Amino acid sequence: MTLERTFVAIKPDGVQRGLVAEIIGRFETKGFKLVGLKQLKPSKELAEKHYGVHRERPFFSGLVNFITSGPVVAMAWEGEGVIASARKLIGATKPLEAEPGTIRGDLAVNIGRNVIHGSDGSDTASFEINLWFKDEELVEWSPSDQAWRVE
Ligand code: UDP
Ligand code: MG
Repeated sequence: MTLERTFVAIKPDGVQRGLVAEIIGRFETKGFKLVGLKQLKPSKELAEKHYGVHRERPFFSGLVNFITSGPVVAMAWEGEGVIASARKLIGATKPLEAEPGTIRGDLAVNIGRNVIHGSDGSDTASFEINLWFKDEELVEWSPSDQAWRVE
């Protein structure tokens, strides 16, 4: 079994709307392991690095302003297949196209207010975890019920 880690962030709209517990709960109840968690108001530099791939897109400056406008809950989640699974739990970028049952499908209507970010592949997952977390902020631990989740 290959253990993976991915980066997930609840954006300022999700925090302002009081969706933190609901969103964290989706990953917990799925069976993934939380290995990093903090709330911060991201700097412009951090937001620009995080969304660097979109630097040339017309929505970039608005996106950076939005992400730096309020608290973000940054998380690292670990588990088998967690990178692709987190993207499935999150749902399509456009919330009106996201399936019911997904986070965006259930909790959002607008692309610019789609409540959550998740890494889109293994390279971005390591880049984003390293960008948002220091090594000592990531916690190695073993859930006592792990044998009931993974054989
Ligand atoms: N975004 C936007 N307008 C667009 C496309 C994207 O505001 O036309 C924002 C949206 O919040 C999205 C983020 O930019 O979540 C990053 O876009 P990406 O295509 O990487 O979507 P994601 O990986 O978040 O599903
Ligand atoms: Mg993306």
